[in-house]
Amino acid sequence: MNFYDAHNHLQDDRFGGRQDELLAACARAGVARMVVNGACESDWPQVLALARAHSVVLPSFGYHPWYLAERTPDWLERLKACLDQIPSAVGEIGLDRWKPGLPYEHQEEVFLAQLQLAAERNVPASIHCLQTWGRLRELLRDHPRPACGLVLHSYGGPAEMVPVFAKLGAYFSFPGYFLRARKARQREAFRRVPPDRLLVETDAPDQPLPDDRNAFPLAGADGKPLNHPVNLSAVYRGLAEFLGEPVESLAARIEANFQRLFGPVPGGSGCAATTPPPSAAPCPS
Ligand SMILES: [Zn+2]
Repeated sequence: MNFYDAHNHLQDDRFGGRQDELLAACARAGVARMVVNGACESDWPQVLALARAHSVVLPSFGYHPWYLAERTPDWLERLKACLDQIPSAVGEIGLDRWKPGLPYEHQEEVFLAQLQLAAERNVPASIHCLQTWGRLRELLRDHPRPACGLVLHSYGGPAEMVPVFAKLGAYFSFPGYFLRARKARQREAFRRVPPDRLLVETDAPDQPLPDDRNAFPLAGADGKPLNHPVNLSAVYRGLAEFLGEPVESLAARIEANFQRLFGPVPGGSGCAATTPPPSAAPCPS
């Protein structure tokens, strides 16, 4: 079986420079492709470097709403420069009214500027949304979206909004964190996801699985637990159990969905696999 991680943050500093070791474990476990999401200007060059060194990495560049205060005046130009460098997606972008103390001001304008880039280039956008689903629906409805589709990563919205977002081109990715007992509501929403819109993610190093499913415990330098991206296969197994479906048929479906959205193989044709223009400027560090 081949496994596809629709959303992680392999570049994260909490991994302490152990990315090669993590990727070797993922390769042994059958991870065929992973979308590595940048979250702010300072980590975009790391995402680019990982993608250049490892064909399993599909890079994605975006400003996450948690880090908007860090953005420089020319952040959008820097983002375009990264997207011009290599076949890539846009993300992680989003809206967040959940995080305590996080200003909502400017979130929509930054989100829409990035959604526009994804629409213009027709590459998938990976979207984070917490406690602002109604507004996200309005913004997606009223603005250009990538024709190839978009990902609602760790979809935690209402079950009844799944068909609404699906009509707007959304795919829904399921994280291992939702296998926790208290995440029953979030799990149940995935029963409403159309079969051809389902994806799976680790969100590593975040969103750890329940301990009894975490076969690869990992800790950062500070001793805090981290989610190892090789846990992807355990997320597949947990989701297959929940849906009452053999993991083999689920994996085949996810493979088809992932490749339809993100493109089949490195360098192949597909939504995200466009050739960068010859005049591409360097991704600024
Ligand atoms: Zn994320």
